[in-house]
Amino acid sequence: MNNGIESKRILVTGGAGFLGSHLCERLLKEGNDVLCVDNFYTGRKENVAHLMSHPLFEVIRHDVCFPLNVEVDEIYNLACPASPIHYQLDPVATTKVSVNGAINMLDLAKRLEVKIFQASTSEVYGDPEEHPQTESYWGHVNPIGVRSCYDEGKRCAETLFFDYYRQHGLRIKVARIFNTYGPRMHPNDGRGVSNFIVQALEGKELTIYGDGSQTRSFCFVDDLINGFLSLMKSSNEVTGPINLGNPDSRTILELAEKIIDLTGSNSKLSYKKLPSDDPVRRQPDISLARTVLNWKPSIELDEGLKTTIAYFDDLLSATA
Ligand code: NAD
Ligand code: UDP
Repeated sequence: MNNGIESKRILVTGGAGFLGSHLCERLLKEGNDVLCVDNFYTGRKENVAHLMSHPLFEVIRHDVCFPLNVEVDEIYNLACPASPIHYQLDPVATTKVSVNGAINMLDLAKRLEVKIFQASTSEVYGDPEEHPQTESYWGHVNPIGVRSCYDEGKRCAETLFFDYYRQHGLRIKVARIFNTYGPRMHPNDGRGVSNFIVQALEGKELTIYGDGSQTRSFCFVDDLINGFLSLMKSSNEVTGPINLGNPDSRTILELAEKIIDLTGSNSKLSYKKLPSDDPVRRQPDISLARTVLNWKPSIELDEGLKTTIAYFDDLLSATA
C-alpha cells in the first residue's frame, strides 16, 4: 500500500521506448512498482534515465521473443518497433516480436492470472475504405507488402489476445492506437512529426511524401497514456479492441506548414515519392472510448506540437 492507494507490480514491455517511458513514468507517479523490460532495439536508456533512481523502478534487458519469468500483478505489452522505417529494417523480427512476444506475455499473464494490455494499432485497418474507422471495421490490409510485417503481426497478436480470452478466460485490454507524438519520439524514426520538426529546426527542407494530401490524426502522448490507464482500470467485460487517438484529422501538408510556422523556420517544402502502401487517410472514431471509458483527448495540436518542438530543440542543442 502507498498513501492509502493500492500499489501494484506492473510489467511494461517496451518500457524504454517513446510510449513505454511515458507509461512507466505515470505508473510510478500513481505509486506502483514498475518493471520495464526492453531489448533497446528502438528504445533508449536516456528515455528512462530520469527514473533510474526511483526506488520502485527496475529495468531488465530482455527480448520478449523469449519467455520471461517474473511475478507481477499487471502487464502492458508495448514491445515492438512502431515507426515504418524501424519496423521495416528487419521485417521478420517485427513479425516475431508481434507474435512470439505476444504469446510469451500472454502465457505469463495466464500463469499469473493477471490482466494484460496490448498496444495494438490503427494499422490493423490498413488503407481503410471506411472513414473514420470504427472498431467493427475489419480493415483493408495488404498481406504481402512492406508494411505487412507490422500490420499482419499486430492483427495476429489481436487474434491471440482474443483466443486466450475465449480459451483461457484471460482478462485482456486491447487498444488500437492512432498516430501519437510528443517528447521522447526518436529523432531518426522517420515519422512525419519528428522528421518535420527536426528538419524545420535545422533549417532543412521538409520532405513531403506524395502531394501531402494524405491525412492523419495526431494525439499528444499525455492524452494517450490517460486512455491506457482508463482502459486498464475499466471493468473486466471491457476487452476492446478500442480506438485511442485524436479525431482531429489533418493533411500532411497542413502539418508541415504548421510546424514551419510554430518553429519560425525559413525551411521550404520538398516533394518526394510516396512510400509503398502509405494509407491515404486515417481518423479514429472514438465513440466507444468516450462512452465506455469516458475518455477523450484534450490537448490541441498546436499546444502538443509546441511541447514537442521544445523537446527536440533541447535535444538538438545538447548534441550540437
Ligand atoms: P518505440 O519504438 O519507441 O518503442 C518500442 C519499444 O519496444 C522500444 O523500447 C524497443 O526497444 C522495444 N522492443 C522492440 N523489440 C523488442 C523485443 N523483441 N523485446 C523487448 N523489447 C523490444 O515505439 P512506440 O511509439 O513507443 O510504440 C510502443 C507500442 O505502441 C508499439 O507496440 C507500437 O506498435 C504501438 N503503437 C504506437 C503508435 C505510435 O504512434 N507511437 C501507434 C500505434 C501503435
Ligand atoms: N511523411 C512525410 N514526410 C516525412 C515522413 C512522413 O510526408 O518525412 C508522411 C508519410 O508518408 C505518411 C504520414 O506522413 O503519409 C505519416 O507518417 P508516419 O510515419 O508518421 O505515420 P504512419 O504512416 O505510420 O501513419
